[in-house]
Amino acid sequence: MKPRVAPRINRNRCEGKGDCVAVCPQQVFELGVLPVAQRQGLKIGGLLKGYAHGWRQALLVRAEACSGCGLCVGVCPERAISLQPQRHNGSHDAPTAAD
Ligand code: SF4
Repeated sequence: MKPRVAPRINRNRCEGKGDCVAVCPQQVFELGVLPVAQRQGLKIGGLLKGYAHGWRQALLVRAEACSGCGLCVGVCPERAISLQPQRHNGSHDAPTAAD
């Protein structure tokens, strides 16, 4: 049985270019403004990048629908997306300051 995975977005890297939104066959992503709570703990580069882009980033709106095809990982120009085993609490979008 294939293990369930879901994308994780490195908030220090995402610039909201939207390639993942376009390529995902499961409509897992939407572009939107990153909530303030998810900006905590970012590196200085991530803070500057987020500010410069008006905090417009890819948001996970249907992470549970991910089929694990990997298209989003390959298409992201910022290499901001990785696939992670799904967590029991359904959260995949925590700040990634440690990444
Ligand atoms: S791995 Fe495939 S289905 Fe999952 S979020 Fe990425 S593009 Fe969508």
